[in-house]
Amino acid sequence: MKQYKCLLFDLDDTLLDFKIAEKFAFNKLMEQNNLPLTEDVFHRYCAINKAVWDDFEKHLLTADEVKYKRFELFCQAYALPLDAVVLGDQYLENLSQSYELIEGAIDLLDRLKSNYKLVLVTNGLSKVQNPRIHSSRMNEYFPLVFISEEVGCSKPSNEFFQHVFNHLGEITKEDILIIGDSMSSDMLGGRNFGIDTCWFNPNQQARKFDVTFEITRLNELNMILL
Ligand SMILES: [Mg+2]
Repeated sequence: MKQYKCLLFDLDDTLLDFKIAEKFAFNKLMEQNNLPLTEDVFHRYCAINKAVWDDFEKHLLTADEVKYKRFELFCQAYALPLDAVVLGDQYLENLSQSYELIEGAIDLLDRLKSNYKLVLVTNGLSKVQNPRIHSSRMNEYFPLVFISEEVGCSKPSNEFFQHVFNHLGEITKEDILIIGDSMSSDMLGGRNFGIDTCWFNPNQQARKFDVTFEITRLNELNMILL
């Protein structure tokens, strides 16, 4: 078994449950604006949000545009006479307050922290991710944190991975494994950059291309990293 020295961890839906965070933030936003909340409304928002983030990953939108574009489209979808900028800011504030852990995350990091250089690599917005990283105590496990908005580019770009790599010190690409739930950002970016990849795939979706490892629960990493 290959001995890695450095582990790059994605944050959302790998260590923290972003689906819970999104639902919390959205529910609170509906309450704050006296809007009715149904599963249908939430699913529609999620579809809009995903499309907007897909555009961001393709460099069609900037991080700043993502914040408001999703609510502009949401208001259009329901013909709501609300200010997308106000909704966007309220939503981000709500989102920054939720930091539910993925099962097994802390146990795993406790076991890994003394044997590996742990690095957090997340596509997201500073004012959302930084409070969540601190509230969940992820900062105690990750001496190095890279948030795409702060880096100025995002996964899966080579530019993002090169920026991270430049801060790792005496580490070669062979020493690195990236662990994440996203094929399109974590796995694709890792593969293109030439590092090993571990796909966290709890819902057992079909692979779009080969990865080095695939796990469905975080504790399965123990078997890869023995
Ligand atoms: Mg993720």
